[in-house]
Amino acid sequence: MANSRFEYVKSFERENILLPQTHIIIRVDGKGFHKFSDFYNFEKPNDINALNIINLSAMKMMETFPDIILAYGDSDEYSFLLRKNCELFERREFKLITTFASFFSSYYQFYWNAKNSPEDQLKIDRLPTFDARAIVYPNRENIIDYFSWRQVDCHINNLYNTTFWMLVLKGGMTTQEAENRLIGTLSSDKNEILFKEFGINYNNEPEMFKKGTIYVREVNDFPIGKYRENPTIDNLQRILKRNKKSSINKYHCDLIKESFWNDRPYLFI
Ligand code: ATP
Ligand code: ATP
Ligand code: MG
Ligand code: MG
Ligand code: MG
Ligand code: MG
Ligand code: MG
Repeated sequence: MANSRFEYVKSFERENILLPQTHIIIRVDGKGFHKFSDFYNFEKPNDINALNIINLSAMKMMETFPDIILAYGDSDEYSFLLRKNCELFERREFKLITTFASFFSSYYQFYWNAKNSPEDQLKIDRLPTFDARAIVYPNRENIIDYFSWRQVDCHINNLYNTTFWMLVLKGGMTTQEAENRLIGTLSSDKNEILFKEFGINYNNEPEMFKKGTIYVREVNDFPIGKYRENPTIDNLQRILKRNKKSSINKYHCDLIKESFWNDRPYLFI
């Protein structure tokens, strides 16, 4: 750009550079998806087609941004873990969050139209859009606790929604009656309503609904035994030099158990 006497206005801009050498997590969440899901007649409590669309969007994010090492999502949200030494946009927060929100919304819209029939295409006044925030976490424990927090949230919401929609769809209650029925109930009460009144064992519900979806960039054939013989950063670096190939894999497993993280020590360097 040529210099001009107007250029001083640029100096009013402010940047927030995220702390170096820390993991960044960016979470996107759908705007007004309660209404969005009503408008497009989502199946309740879990519309599989909508989950497939959000999952495809998350997978595409991982392919687009190699700095994403793990993604976890359920309902209308996804959290992306960036590697510690990520230098994407020089770690400028506004660039990162606006780009993530914008890419994710675009991918979701693309896959929506690809995965729905012509009469269910998106309407201009009801487009799916996502906001994004970035959080930096200084250590391994915080990261594991973060993903445990999101997965517990998925579990609590899904148990509630499964029971709520059973009471409405099979139990003939109005939404207000179902809501009142569930006020003050514990998890065990909801499990009992599902089992005694509807013959549903919550444990047998699909893993994707109960646990959400995880995409993780995994080192192919990572020799975990060799690492455990000598669990140091040096040894880990040496192993990674020999095993450079990685692939993105999908799971619906427990993130709360330490074993998921212990089996993949390379996520934390
Ligand atoms: P960045 O991601 O950093 O913004 P950029 O390639 O988008 O990189 P910009 O400075 O934003 O760089 O410039 C946008 C460029 O897009 C223009 O230089 C021009 O080449 C092209 N462009 C945008 N709109 C048009 C248009 N309507 N017709 C022709 N070219 C266009
Ligand atoms: P906000 O803009 O504040 O995020 P919201 O309406 O999106 O508001 P959320 O707390 O994000 O509120 O909840 C998302 C809602 O979207 C869920 O409660 C659920 O009703 C609906 N929803 C999202 N995905 C699905 C799905 N796959 N199947 C059924 N319902 C879904
Ligand atoms: Mg421009
Ligand atoms: Mg929200
Ligand atoms: Mg939302
Ligand atoms: Mg949400
Ligand atoms: Mg540009």
